[in-house]
Formats: sequence, C-alpha cells, structure tokens
Amino acid sequence: MTETPPQDWPENVWRSHVNRVRAGRRLAPTTWPGGAKAALALSFDCDHETFEMGGGRHAVGRLGWGEFGRRVGVPRILETLRKHDAQASFFYPAVAALIDPDEPRRVADAGHEIGVHGWIHEVNASLTETQERDLIHRARDTLEQTSGQRPVGHRAAHWDLSDNTIKLVAEAGFLYDSSMMADDSCYELLSEGHPTGLVEVPVDWVRDDAVYLLFNRAPPTRPTLTAEEVLTIFLREFDAACEEGGLCQLVMHPFVIGYRSRIWIVDELLRHARARGDVFIGTHAAIAAHAKAHG
Ligand SMILES: [Zn+2]
Repeated sequence: MTETPPQDWPENVWRSHVNRVRAGRRLAPTTWPGGAKAALALSFDCDHETFEMGGGRHAVGRLGWGEFGRRVGVPRILETLRKHDAQASFFYPAVAALIDPDEPRRVADAGHEIGVHGWIHEVNASLTETQERDLIHRARDTLEQTSGQRPVGHRAAHWDLSDNTIKLVAEAGFLYDSSMMADDSCYELLSEGHPTGLVEVPVDWVRDDAVYLLFNRAPPTRPTLTAEEVLTIFLREFDAACEEGGLCQLVMHPFVIGYRSRIWIVDELLRHARARGDVFIGTHAAIAAHAKAHG
C-alpha cells in the first residue's frame, strides 16, 4: 500500500495528527516550594545496558559501556547531589533496575525520585496499544518492587511517543510525563483536544548532555562541544529561567556525564544554583505537583 504524500493530506488528516497530543494551559507558578523564585529540576536517565538492548542488540563491549554508567556514573552523581543536598529524578527502564535492584533502592533511599523509562528502552512507536499498555504497567510495578517507591512520573525512551503513549500514561494514573518539548514551562497535556490531567515537565535537546557529548562509532556520532561549553549552555538556560521566575529542567545520563572530565558540570551547576539562594532544587514529581496546584 502506498502512503498518501503529505502535500495531498486533506485538512482533517493533518489536523488529526496535530491534535493527537497538544500543549494545553501553561502551568507556571509565580513562586516555587519554600517561596523560591525559580526551580531547578535535574534528571538522570539510567539506561545503562538497555541503551544497547533496547535496539535489539547485545554487543558485549557496548553492554560494558552501559555498565560504566551503573558502576561509576551513578555513584559519582549521587555523591555530587549529596554534597549539595540536592534531590533529583532518576528514570529507569525496568530491565536496568532488574539487573541490579540495589541501585534504584540506593537512589530512592537517598531521597531521589524513581521514574519509569520504558521496559527495556524500547521504541514505543513500534508497539501495539496493548503491548505498550502492558509494558507501562509492568515497568511501573517492577520499579516499585525494586526501589520501594511507586513511580508517578513517566519518560518515554528516546522521548519516542507513539500515538497512544500519552493516553496510556494518563490512564495508568501517572502525575506527569517528561518526554515532550512544547514549552520550557510545565503545561497541561491535551489528548484529542481534551485535558488528560497529566502535567508535562518538558525536556529539550538543548538541555540534554547526550546531544553535545555522546560518542558513537556507528552511526558515527562525535561530541560537538567541550565540557566547558556544555556548562555555559546549561548555566545560560538556568540563569534565564531564574530571571523569568521559571523552571530549568535538565536531562543527563550516567554513561555520558559520569566521567572524571565531566561530572564537575553537575557540581558547578549546583554550586551556582545554591549560591543564588532563591532556587528550589527538587524532583520532577515535586515540581509537577507544585505546578499543578499553583500554576
Ligand atoms: Zn534513555
């Protein structure tokens, strides 16, 4: 069957694509928890070995690369957060949690949030609605069992959303999703024009470490910026959010940021945020709940 080329789509077709998931009301509170002027939400996507397996591959060397994130990256991140008394959100594919259940447990016990990041970092757009629903529920239950914390947040692997993802995440009773890029403030998510009740805590490529720092042999992907330049972008995002009284949200990965030559980016960012003194540094769950109640 040949697909209709987009220039021939009738209006009802392109409208239906756009309306499937849409940003609704902006949820931008005037103050943040504790009366803070701005908010900083750090997240760490603990893909580990599933970065390889989610694509159906199992190369030994690349699984070891994921293991670096587990053995070295996460402990360095936890130590840096502890140093600044900062809470953050850790998104796990369920399989990454099952490989070493002690890790999400340690993360949760340190006061951080555990969120759902797929079953095995699979591509949602390749799933049927039934398969995707099953995986979302199984992933959340598995993460609750391993970490002791019931996840309220969802982040699609690769930020890849099927036509059904947002509907299914809302149906499963999550508080928020964090996979979309329609704003830099939190917002309501609409599905087919109707409020879902879900808060979006938006991500963006510009605030993602992997965009600038990830190396891959094939397809050939090279770091494009130095660690110093990445810090500069993150600080500009953060300082501008502070001037607006808004939210700065960042996505990082233990196997990208967890190196000796890079972990200082997190340290420096937190030192800078603490020095301002009027910033709420909290989990995505806390940010989403506050934005929903006061936005
Ligand atoms: Zn991921």
